[in-house]
Amino acid sequence: MKQPETLSAPATLSALTREAQALAQAPAEASAPRRVIRVLPLTENEEEVARQMQICNACRYCEGFCAVFPAMTRRLEFGKADIHYLANLCHNCGACYHACQYAPPHDFGVNVPQAMARVRGQTYADYAWPPALGALYKRNGLTVALALAAGLALFLLLALARHGTLWHAPLAGDFYAIFPHNLMAAMFGAVFAFALLALAFGVTRFWRSVSPGRAGAPALAEAAHDAFTLTYLDGGHGEGCNEEDDRFTLARRRFHHCTFYGFLLCFAATAVATLYHYAFGWHAPYAYLSAPVLLGTIGGVALSIGSAGLLWLNLRRDPARGDAAQRPMDRGFIALLLLTALSGLALLAGRDSGAMAALLAVHLGVVMALFATLPYGKFAHGIYRSAALLKSAIEKRQPDTLKLGSD
Ligand code: SF4
Ligand code: SF4
Repeated sequence: MKQPETLSAPATLSALTREAQALAQAPAEASAPRRVIRVLPLTENEEEVARQMQICNACRYCEGFCAVFPAMTRRLEFGKADIHYLANLCHNCGACYHACQYAPPHDFGVNVPQAMARVRGQTYADYAWPPALGALYKRNGLTVALALAAGLALFLLLALARHGTLWHAPLAGDFYAIFPHNLMAAMFGAVFAFALLALAFGVTRFWRSVSPGRAGAPALAEAAHDAFTLTYLDGGHGEGCNEEDDRFTLARRRFHHCTFYGFLLCFAATAVATLYHYAFGWHAPYAYLSAPVLLGTIGGVALSIGSAGLLWLNLRRDPARGDAAQRPMDRGFIALLLLTALSGLALLAGRDSGAMAALLAVHLGVVMALFATLPYGKFAHGIYRSAALLKSAIEKRQPDTLKLGSD
């Protein structure tokens, strides 16, 4: 029987070197393209998530709290894409922080919501489109303030330039006497279309990076259900999140529902009014009991209650479990939503008065600031989290080769 050829250590080394050189110099074969996978080093925040996930993977106490932990049990190592996916799957409900026996001051220093929040904020900037505008996330408080000031100035000056005054004889709610319909449609249409495009490009980059797999109807239905009901703000036991301490509360889930569905109703009001205008030739102002005004009023009230509640909870929340650097972004977005709702309701109340031009200019300025900052602020969390929920729903339906988790 032929014995394997044995080489001394230097001979082995030089043989390996020759082999490597030969591979490097070999002409690329067109028939066998090689795929080069670039391995990017983890950032400090990503390293921290990976470290904490290794501890959690050994502990598993929080497995039933949310989708993050079952997804974690499918992995033994955590690469960049895994960390980005898990960070966006976390709802920052706080349950695992308040339940954790290894949370600070323990030496392990496990604080999953804070570690996830830091990476999450970084992913918004990393996947932003155009990439240069990703920096706006990092100075979002300033961005929102400037956008608000610019929006208000734009519409107040426009109203003054067109009419010479912000005070006028009552116009029976005829907004178009102040700003023509086509002017408003062109300005808001352009800004909103850009916001949608920027968000779509950003989330597509995220989606590709996390290698999602094919989304079937059951996975889509589950993800939609989880997103629309905010399943994971129930703390995993149905009693809700933690805010300032260990007590559970459903307040955040309820205020979030008010905000989200209030926003959708306001959007529906605009969509119905657009349909009335273009499809039926029914022009504003609409009666108080018409569909656009009813939808806008109910939506505005819900949005006011929801955003005021979220702001109140945000101010009371245990700061240790979030990312302090993102507070201006969180609060700036909630404040813009609240201002949008309040200025819209004030406009409705004062539409038959001589202050309509000023009220309309303020409302349009706030809405313009909201639309312009949608792709570079807190609104992005809804888009990225929905994508992460869809990946989670897809992944659950794929075979788990490790078989260490409960899903
Ligand atoms: S957060 Fe703490 S308690 Fe929960 S799984 Fe991780 S280490 Fe365990
Ligand atoms: S904070 Fe809540 S959603 Fe985030 S990992 Fe912990 S339990 Fe899950």
